[in-house]
Amino acid sequence: MTTLADLQVSSLGPSRHDSPLGSYVAGRKTNEYYVSEDDRVLYDDTISLLEQRGEPVERWPSFEPGGPRARIFHDPATTHVGVVTCGGLCPGLNDVIRAVTLELYTHYGVTRVTGFRNGYAGLVPELGFEPVTLTPGLVGSINERGGTILGTSRGAQDPAVIVDRLVELEVDALIVIGGDGSMHGAHRIVEEIADRGLEIGVVGIPKTIDNDIPHIGQSFGFATAFAEAAKAITAAHVEAESAENGVGLVKVMGRHAGFIACYSALANHDADFVLIPEVPFSIDGENGLLRSLARRVREHGSAVIVLAEGAGQEHVRATGKSDASGNSRLGDIATIVREAIEDDFRERGEPLTLKFLEPGYGIRAVPADASDSVYCARLAQVAVHAAMAGRTDMVVGRRRHRFVHVPIPLVIERRHSVSPDGDLWLSVLESTAQPLDMS
Ligand code: ATP
Ligand code: MG
Repeated sequence: MTTLADLQVSSLGPSRHDSPLGSYVAGRKTNEYYVSEDDRVLYDDTISLLEQRGEPVERWPSFEPGGPRARIFHDPATTHVGVVTCGGLCPGLNDVIRAVTLELYTHYGVTRVTGFRNGYAGLVPELGFEPVTLTPGLVGSINERGGTILGTSRGAQDPAVIVDRLVELEVDALIVIGGDGSMHGAHRIVEEIADRGLEIGVVGIPKTIDNDIPHIGQSFGFATAFAEAAKAITAAHVEAESAENGVGLVKVMGRHAGFIACYSALANHDADFVLIPEVPFSIDGENGLLRSLARRVREHGSAVIVLAEGAGQEHVRATGKSDASGNSRLGDIATIVREAIEDDFRERGEPLTLKFLEPGYGIRAVPADASDSVYCARLAQVAVHAAMAGRTDMVVGRRRHRFVHVPIPLVIERRHSVSPDGDLWLSVLESTAQPLDMS
């Protein structure tokens, strides 16, 4: 169980400057605008969860709220902020870079904003990637394109070398936009900073197209990504319906978490089967994929299967390989499923028109939609407020519509995944033709 102690966010020290945002609150009660340092956002959201704690109110787990503080740690006149994007692409990266830069310049009056290129590699001088000076002019309309203007990379870098570089460039706060691996990396940078007794803050903005980072609510870019995946499912549905015994097989992202598969399938109700990493399925057997699919095709003439890339790993031989960051490479479940379906229809002497669609990288590269753009901008602003207030070793997130600060150790200790007993999976079962238990 997450406790109040787990939720304490680290700070570089007491705040020593008045926030320049004061000019925005002229004529208003400042407490309507600034976050009170004594306020907290409750972790639990039901009475029953709170009752289970059996603890006095002040010990109920709660988050530090995100938002502007009346007093801040860093002096905007001299503050230098670094920004880096790491890991895979995700819609909204450029929106975040843009909003961080604009918030710093226009609201805090910070004019030293540096973008490090190609992930953590950009903080390692010997690799030769010159940093970029981020200005409002440079970031003006970068949100119109997907990707990241800073570039990104995988692969381990030495935290000692990174901290040397931050010291050399007099960086006061580093904003890391990245996934679980990047947040592990950020935490190691924090440890190195703490060992040296430096006043450099590290604030994360979690980026995960799979929505697999815990505690932060829905991650930015996720809604854009599943909307894009839903288009492929619609296409597969149209193809399948137009053919004799048509089967559409759509492989979507989701190495360890099936959120994209679930949400994209729910977006248009065209999917008949949704296969995700969290819920094992059999290929053979009465309730297995082949017989369930055959029944569906017999009754409806066609069927659509949505397959998360990490589903059914029990049917795949482990590759034993990993990428530059040490993430293991998954076996190819799509080929196994596809061949099993083709063999099954052939053996039963039935025609089959199988169309395989893989939106894959296409869903990562698109620009954020309007709703995600707003979310990215607000997350970025909250991250800037946290960084200026001297917070460190934390990420920003939004739980139940409240922006909050979450300690990095808490977000890297486990992965968020679809609960097979939860209401999301139940909704998926309700909107598909698949048996409750396919294992
Ligand atoms: P995603 O998986 O969503 O694409 P990610 O941030 O998890 O994003 P990774 O490639 O795993 O992507 O990691 C990005 C950066 O973080 C890399 O430079 C990698 O070396 C560093 N990193 C990854 N895991 C760790 C770790 N356990 N400790 C320190 N650094 C790490
Ligand atoms: Mg990762």
